[in-house]
Amino acid sequence: MYDILSQDVMYLHGVGPKRVKIFNKDLEIFSLRDLLYYFPYRYIDRSRIYQICELEEEMPYVQIRGQIKLMNEIGIGRKKRLEAIFDDGSGIIKLVWFGGINYVKKKLQLHTDYLVFGKPTVFNHEINVTQPEMTLLSKTPNIDSLTKLRPVYRLTESMKNSGITSGVIEQMERDVFAKLTNTHIPETLPESFCKKYDLMSLENALREIHFPSDMRMVELAERRLKFEELFYVQLDILNYADQRSKKYKGFVFSKIGDRFMTFYNEHLPFELTNAQKRVMKEIRRDLGSGLQMNRLLQGDVGSGKTIVALMTMLIALDNGYQACIMAPTEILAEQHFATVKRMLGDMDVRVELLTGVIQGKRRNKVLEGVTSGEVDILIGTHALLGDIVNFKNFGLAIIDEQHRFGVEQRAKLWKKNDSPPHILVMTATPIPRTLAMTVYGDLAVSVIDELPPGRKSVKTLHYYDDSEDKLVNLVRSEIEKGRQAYYVFPLIEESEKSDLLDLENGFKHICMLFPELKVAKLHGRMKEAEKNEVMDCFKRGEFHILVSTTVIEVGVDVPNASIMIVMNANRFGLAQLHQLRGRVGRGAQQSYCILQTGHKLSEVSVKRLETMVESTDGFYIAEEDLKLRGPGVLEGTQQSGVIFDMKIANVIKDNGLLIEARGAAMELLKTDPDRNLPANDVIWKQMLRKHKLTVDLSNIS
Ligand code: ADP
Ligand code: MG
Repeated sequence: MYDILSQDVMYLHGVGPKRVKIFNKDLEIFSLRDLLYYFPYRYIDRSRIYQICELEEEMPYVQIRGQIKLMNEIGIGRKKRLEAIFDDGSGIIKLVWFGGINYVKKKLQLHTDYLVFGKPTVFNHEINVTQPEMTLLSKTPNIDSLTKLRPVYRLTESMKNSGITSGVIEQMERDVFAKLTNTHIPETLPESFCKKYDLMSLENALREIHFPSDMRMVELAERRLKFEELFYVQLDILNYADQRSKKYKGFVFSKIGDRFMTFYNEHLPFELTNAQKRVMKEIRRDLGSGLQMNRLLQGDVGSGKTIVALMTMLIALDNGYQACIMAPTEILAEQHFATVKRMLGDMDVRVELLTGVIQGKRRNKVLEGVTSGEVDILIGTHALLGDIVNFKNFGLAIIDEQHRFGVEQRAKLWKKNDSPPHILVMTATPIPRTLAMTVYGDLAVSVIDELPPGRKSVKTLHYYDDSEDKLVNLVRSEIEKGRQAYYVFPLIEESEKSDLLDLENGFKHICMLFPELKVAKLHGRMKEAEKNEVMDCFKRGEFHILVSTTVIEVGVDVPNASIMIVMNANRFGLAQLHQLRGRVGRGAQQSYCILQTGHKLSEVSVKRLETMVESTDGFYIAEEDLKLRGPGVLEGTQQSGVIFDMKIANVIKDNGLLIEARGAAMELLKTDPDRNLPANDVIWKQMLRKHKLTVDLSNIS
């Protein structure tokens, strides 16, 4: 069947090559279908036509009907404007244009009826309407279609500059529907399905979203379109997970053996929190299930994920498998290595470190041990992904702070075996649970939602840069108590020279402020060995102050550090600030986080700083972050663009609908496990069509 909606938009009336180009480039609209899926973002009630004598300044957008009596260009150059005197019999008003003057002037006709739409404003004590939308009534026989709920479409700058108004798009949408007289828009969901989930037909939904009968119909149309969008993404994710679990059997770690028990009974330095115990149970259940584990472990900074990782690895060892931890930076890998070795003490477990700095003989020895199976636990950076790393019996991979790892890197790890290892992904970027399941596809989610006992929450203060004395006093008093301090400077790109200069100058300045103290400096451009050296010295307490870029953002654990000063804190995102703050408050003492900024702050910055001062709850902060930034830029999930790149649904705002759509997808897979019920034909076909969109996402684990 010929699909009329796949026609190019250039065949629409009044759409020349120049406009086609703009639609292609700015909105990725090529076909009529694309155009139909370009939805209005709001509606205006235009059922009323005002008289000019009724207009007042405070009115929102209004509509008047009358004629232009006179047009005048005023001013020169950039200040040029076009003024028109508009008369409706009840009074006169001035219409004013600042942009696109030539185009408007050419188009407008004197002494003919127009419907004018715009917002009244007062200028020089008289009411004007600036940049109004003008509709020539002689060209629009059906004025009724203009005076109801009208869609408003988003416009880009180049659209505005070439005279494409919201009204133009509206007319194009109308023209698409006009082409459909003898045919219907093909349904993408079965009728029975629509009934079951209370969804209107696709064609009605598309009609109502552009040309609504009333606001209630808009809501119903949105429900249908959002549901469909969410449903297909969820179906794809769940379908993929289902196929994979059928294809791959997971290793069964049935035993809790000597190593785990010895550690638990003799080496565990503290009692596990209830949350840690619960998570261990969830992990053990996965490991013994016969299915491959793909679990996301979320826990706020300092919640104690490392010990969970270690105990999980010991289970792997007890069952005869090797395990690895992959960390995003050398510093973190080193730190994990040190922690794991320290915790295991004299236990008979061979732990090795593999990073870029470990070379030559030492490297070869590690690699040999991995291949022969003598190395039980391998800890490293992405060096672990290299082809030369060949495990004898690879059973478990733990990925720390996963947001630094891209999708492809994880896929590489996965391919190291014929059978995929169990995978535990640990992250301190808290994501609301319902969101996590969509962002990370089929990863099961565990949450450590409890901090170890005795922690005092970090006191967070916002200081302006002119209260340096106060700051210096606070730092000095902490250091006099034997504590240490971090100063962090923003560094957006490690290569940005000016930022590095900030750090260098900052370092000099801080040395000057504290001439009696030992101050060290750390940044991403230093050699790995140098960085490690500085970090080790700081850990041993040989420096009082560490001046650093965000290289210390993730995971660094120096319990004696009790004060964190974030310079130009307005330049950091909320997630990053929360991570940075997590570097202090790791010991029993009261810790401080000082957010330092200048006085000139944007509204969003102020809100971010307030959020930080007000709360230390990572989940709350993550939600505020989403509200401030919108889900499209949720830190660490850039690779999951598909989820956020939806046309109409919003995974945050439409969370209820998301859960419903996910439920529908689960139900479908359950009732049609072989994917061959004729009733669902439409769905499976549609899924194949959409599949290419989400395939990247499903490869995440
Ligand atoms: P994160 O979740 O940020 O990786 P870590 O695993 O580094 O946190 O743990 C933070 C600190 O808390 C470490 O010093 C660790 O030894 C300690 N810790 C972890 N669990 C407990 C517990 N149950 N009781 C007391 N201290 C704990
Ligand atoms: Mg950690």
